Amino acid sequence: MTTDGMGAYTASPAWEARDVCRIYSVDSREVQALRGINLTVQAGEFVALKGRSGSGKTTLLNCLGGLDKPTSGAVRCFGSNLQDMTESELTCWRRDQVGYIFQSFALLPTLSAYENVELMLRLAQAKAKDRRERTSYCLDLVGLAKWSDHRPYEMSGGQQQRVAIARALANSPRLLLADEATGELDSQTAREIMAFFRRIVDQEHLTLVLATHDALVDSFADRVIRLADGQIIPETQP
Ligand code: ADP
Ligand code: MG
Repeated sequence: MTTDGMGAYTASPAWEARDVCRIYSVDSREVQALRGINLTVQAGEFVALKGRSGSGKTTLLNCLGGLDKPTSGAVRCFGSNLQDMTESELTCWRRDQVGYIFQSFALLPTLSAYENVELMLRLAQAKAKDRRERTSYCLDLVGLAKWSDHRPYEMSGGQQQRVAIARALANSPRLLLADEATGELDSQTAREIMAFFRRIVDQEHLTLVLATHDALVDSFADRVIRLADGQIIPETQP
């Protein structure tokens, strides 16, 4: 049993993927990117999704985050079936419930760290006072309060990724999806970001699925799921 963030008790897992398949049609050829994924992620878990390039990590994250639709199968989040939502419901759900973090940081270059984070709250039409408080809270959380006025190009890769994490947290999502979030960072910085993910998952009661092929993640995640050719590799017995 976990709380759903609004004080009510719910036994629903954060994510449930059932028999998820995703087939891309390329010219006259079909690419089976996901081939029958069954996965349950409990609220509060930090799950690492590992696998070689092309194994289906990004496709699975996109299906979990409502950015893409499975060709067949179902994805439920806290008990709600994403396929049952209309496009506008899904847009609101993505904005309010999910924070996305990408390898490339994807910060707007002409905006300061503060403005990059605050933009998300503007898009969600938060009030000015709430925007100020939440933006400051998120920048403080990632240890960048003093860097508020700096633009991305004035910051290191690790700092930029922390701004991107603060931005993902701006709308107080319960769920976080990170795609190769440490892929462009040196190993020491990557380790710091992984440790940071661990801390915010616990501290902010978040659920995180992080796709990576970095072995560093093993010591930070609660669980490692391995993908190969669009399928989850069963854990080998010790
Ligand atoms: P990963 O993130 O593990 O590198 P992807 O999910 O990006 O894997 O890709 C899984 C498979 O689906 C690969 O064979 C890839 O070429 C294919 N694929 C991914 N996106 C598309 C797309 N938009 N159109 C066609 N094929 C795609
Ligand atoms: Mg990928």
